Amino acid sequence: MSTVIPFHKPFTDSQEHLAMQHVLTAGTLRGDGPASKRVQQLMRTVTGSQHAFFTTSCTHALEIAVQALGIGPGDEVIMPSYTFVSTANAVLMHGGKPVFCDIMPDTLNMDFNHASRLVTARTKAIIPVHYAGVAVDIDAMMKFKSTHGVHIIEDAAQGADAYHQGKHLGTFGDFGCLSFHDTKNITCGEGGALLTNNPELARRAEIIREKGTNRSAFLRGEVDKYTWIDRGSSYIQSDLLAAVLEVQWQKRTQIKELRADAWNQYQRLFEPFEQDGKLKRPVITPGAETNYHTYFVTTTRTEQRDILLEAYKQAGIQASFHYIPLHNSPFGKKLQEGNVPHLPVTEQMSERIIRLPLYPAIAVEHPDFCERVYEITARVLK
Ligand SMILES: *Cc1c(COP(=O)(O)O)cnc(C)c1O
Repeated sequence: MSTVIPFHKPFTDSQEHLAMQHVLTAGTLRGDGPASKRVQQLMRTVTGSQHAFFTTSCTHALEIAVQALGIGPGDEVIMPSYTFVSTANAVLMHGGKPVFCDIMPDTLNMDFNHASRLVTARTKAIIPVHYAGVAVDIDAMMKFKSTHGVHIIEDAAQGADAYHQGKHLGTFGDFGCLSFHDTKNITCGEGGALLTNNPELARRAEIIREKGTNRSAFLRGEVDKYTWIDRGSSYIQSDLLAAVLEVQWQKRTQIKELRADAWNQYQRLFEPFEQDGKLKRPVITPGAETNYHTYFVTTTRTEQRDILLEAYKQAGIQASFHYIPLHNSPFGKKLQEGNVPHLPVTEQMSERIIRLPLYPAIAVEHPDFCERVYEITARVLK
């Protein structure tokens, strides 16, 4: 068998090693040191966000956002069922109730029409997810906010260096949350960022992130001692990882260009199969400037998806399915106390999706990746 093509692989080299070494040598290992300050400034510059907090994860950034918006017991938050568990957990951690909506069949992004039918007097916020680094329908999202008067927390975990009409994902709502987990485009292993343009929300987030104290204001010399003023936790990430993340953000253009090349090769490869009605290729909606986080196709039938996945696996191509819908998960069912909704697009698409291996070095490490994927696909779908 030929070599295995991994599903993903972080794009690191000696620069990340060197950056960590500098921090170790300087002895500034804890959080909010020089490297954190630099990477937060860099993130503000790239995203255009007034405030950018480096956090321990995107999950934690979502938790801070939920708490800062005062979401708690009795409050409902609408989100797609087709997402990672963190989107829902963040709401639950503060006593709120996740309400699951359906997705669009082309982008697998939140269906705002369906979401608007789920609004009740208790709806406090929505958490749209920019799936695969492709913006949700931003116009529909902003209209939703003005019509229903709810808060928006953007789950832009997959959206680092992705935009809508030149504006970075995660900067449209009250808060935006990015992930730097090693499966994401820009990574420091584990990490996240919280973005906001609202100074009052930024002040609250800063306190929650610093264990409920005003230590950040103290370090800026704004108060003469720091003390406990709110509930909070330890959401500050080490400067060792900030140093790695800084290098990764500096490489963002190269990372995106290499991913774009591989993504576009897949898009050409799968065109004939789409023309034959065997599967559908991803759609980049007008205005969306993707970061090429994921390349996925959806088959017309579930059985075919499973056969294809197995064939790729046998051939050493680490293709993958994706989310098990949250509304149908064991814990999701328990939360909904027997009122499990039917979300037809979510249920269909989650059983038909295939994500192909995609990472910056894929074409260098596996120059024949397209031929191999094509060969298997053609053999199964002939
Ligand atoms: C990766 C991911 C998260 C979680 O990110 P962490 O940094 O690992 O906490 C949340 N939501 C979505 C949509 C993701 O893809």
